[in-house]
Amino acid sequence: MTIGSTVLGYPRIGPRRELKRALESYWADRSSESELREVAKTLRTDSLRELRDAGLNTIPGSFSYYDQVLDAAVVFGAVPQRYRDLGLNPLDTYFAMARGVASTAPWEMTKWFDTNYHYLVPEIGPETSFALTDRTPLEHYREAAELGVTTRPVLVGPVTFLLLSKASEQAGERFRPLERLDDLVTEYATLLGELHRAGVEWVQLDEPALSADRTQTELEQFRAAYRKLGALTERPKIFVPTYFGPVGEALSALASAPVEGVGVDLVAGQSTADSLATATELRDKTLVAGVVDGRNVWRTDLDAALGTAATLLGSAAEVAVSTSCSLLHVPYDLELETSLDPQVASWLAFAKQKVAEVVTVETALRDGREAVSAELDHARKAVEDRKNSPRLRDDTVRSRTGSLTESDVRRSAYETRRTAQQNALKLPVLPTTTIGSFPQTSEVRKARAALRNGTIAAADYRQRMLDEIERVITLQEDLGLDVLVHGEPERNDMVQYFSEYLAGFASTDNGWVQSYGSRCVRPPILFGDVSRPNSMTVEWARAAQKFTAKPVKGMLTGPVTILAWSFVRDDQPLADTAAQVGLAIRDEVSDLESAGIGVVQVDEPALRELLPLRASQRPEYLKWAVDSFRLSTAGASDATQIHTHLCYSEFGDVIDAIVSLDADVTSIEAARSRMEVLDDLNAVGFGRGVGPGVYDIHSPRVPEIDEVQRLLRDALASVPADRIWVNPDCGLKTRGYAEVEPALRHMVEATKQVRKSL
Ligand code: GLN
Ligand code: ZN
Repeated sequence: MTIGSTVLGYPRIGPRRELKRALESYWADRSSESELREVAKTLRTDSLRELRDAGLNTIPGSFSYYDQVLDAAVVFGAVPQRYRDLGLNPLDTYFAMARGVASTAPWEMTKWFDTNYHYLVPEIGPETSFALTDRTPLEHYREAAELGVTTRPVLVGPVTFLLLSKASEQAGERFRPLERLDDLVTEYATLLGELHRAGVEWVQLDEPALSADRTQTELEQFRAAYRKLGALTERPKIFVPTYFGPVGEALSALASAPVEGVGVDLVAGQSTADSLATATELRDKTLVAGVVDGRNVWRTDLDAALGTAATLLGSAAEVAVSTSCSLLHVPYDLELETSLDPQVASWLAFAKQKVAEVVTVETALRDGREAVSAELDHARKAVEDRKNSPRLRDDTVRSRTGSLTESDVRRSAYETRRTAQQNALKLPVLPTTTIGSFPQTSEVRKARAALRNGTIAAADYRQRMLDEIERVITLQEDLGLDVLVHGEPERNDMVQYFSEYLAGFASTDNGWVQSYGSRCVRPPILFGDVSRPNSMTVEWARAAQKFTAKPVKGMLTGPVTILAWSFVRDDQPLADTAAQVGLAIRDEVSDLESAGIGVVQVDEPALRELLPLRASQRPEYLKWAVDSFRLSTAGASDATQIHTHLCYSEFGDVIDAIVSLDADVTSIEAARSRMEVLDDLNAVGFGRGVGPGVYDIHSPRVPEIDEVQRLLRDALASVPADRIWVNPDCGLKTRGYAEVEPALRHMVEATKQVRKSL
């Protein structure tokens, strides 16, 4: 029995976000292609050396300039004609697909399974002419070989690639990209032949799509694809990992594929471990056991991981210890954190530390525990310390969540609230408002940076924020909006801001994780019971309300979104954590009410993001997600109007949940889909206030008055006027005043005209 160690992929943006800077400088024409390539090469080289020196047996070649799905599209020639027509060089064609150019929109972006990473959605149709055109995987293999490092090229597998693609415009909506599987597999086969001739021993074809619900037909297509690849006589050994959940009914297709290695996620898919023993087809394969969590930041319980890996020893010819998925989803290196609380830091492992954990488990498995007893002892102490730490438990919080009842998540009947709110707010028909943020000017950003660097005092910072709030309120008065906002100048990010106030959270200095392309986020780390020692937004809302007689809408982030954009604790059900965050938000709502704020918006743009990949797990998720939102809002009095905001309009499976949120007003993105969402909401009996976005904030274009009018009339065709609100699609934070002012002016003017015609 041989035992090995590997990881499924490594971060690529650079420990100090070097790739981000190099990309952005190249895009801004401040540096050349060769300068960009040089930075990328250095990053690849550094990572390879690091992984090799850490003692991994096999090392993935998982670099990407932007996105691994886009990479696969380009490798196999799935470049739509509109990008070819631009006549750009290969690298710029690649970036045109990722980011668009003036004349051509980019590919759509969407979330990579249930992570916060976003991939580019390939457009595939009968016209797509697959052909192996880009040989980057081969080049990167050779580059590593020159350094003396043998890598395993990593590509998105053909089935997952097509399942994640969408039908091209020419093909029409009913076309299924998977119909092109056979043609695409032919090109994968060509690539495998070339890799083989170049001396590649193993290639990794990621098939995470097997961890979501799949039809029998899809599984049959998977079998056919790998039969074809497996049957090639001239090819490297093929390793097919699945991740992000249990393999479930796809196990037999995976295990019986004629490939040499398969990988399973034993963290998100613990249940897979039991079924592996029965998969007899694995007996002549390498089984890559993902026992170190690749997408959360906790130190691994190495004893448990070792136990899991040990039980697999009889099921396969060879067992390799690995991460559950690519380490793309965690920050690089805990050592880069200097201000993190040392005790919290001792509970964590980032990418570099996780590689060491993999090596430790593998060594113990191969040579016995004694070989790494010091490492195991150290890890055990850290895991125990976390488990027993009083900092994880707050008895006040626990007694509050323990005594919650149904009445804590229920408000009065909507009609009762509606009357109370009408009397309190006295709003015109078709009230106008915005989603919360106003453009973040460079002065605002500078003030935040100056506070962080200690170059201005807290009082000075506070005054600058108050000045900005006054300016934004004056502007909204001038524009004639009905429900005003303070503009959110104090927020770097809608989750990070709150996490800095809440007990139970820690934040990092360098814990950057790629979100898409050059965009990185620094998710807070939720380690303990959550409570709210002090109010978080009251000061700003109260100040804003002082500057105007119109109602100011308080602005909070909801519990589900706070969890979705943080690293969450893994020692209790997410539902319990959500309830704690819900209570903290509930306290803030109550303080806002006491400060005279009569409208409070609780944003939940991530409600759909956490939806489990398997349909069978969705009802349970939706129950606690909805309850946590209701917990955060149901303490409000009848006269307090609760708003929520969702950034998308394709609700799919979450549409009933949106009704259950029981918000008085829900604003949603709708401009691009021309208000279609209103019919979807009607179909499920959504009888509440709704603010379908009347203009797209994702583009700098200023909508004309009659354009907004048309959209409003479309909305009025579906929903009675007394339930419609008028607002943009989303927050205005990323826009400039040059476009926001005229756009909002047109929005208000269009509303006035439509009101007259009612
Ligand atoms: N209130 C937030 C804002 O306006 C909402 C952001 C979001 O929807 N993602 O910026
Ligand atoms: Zn939004």
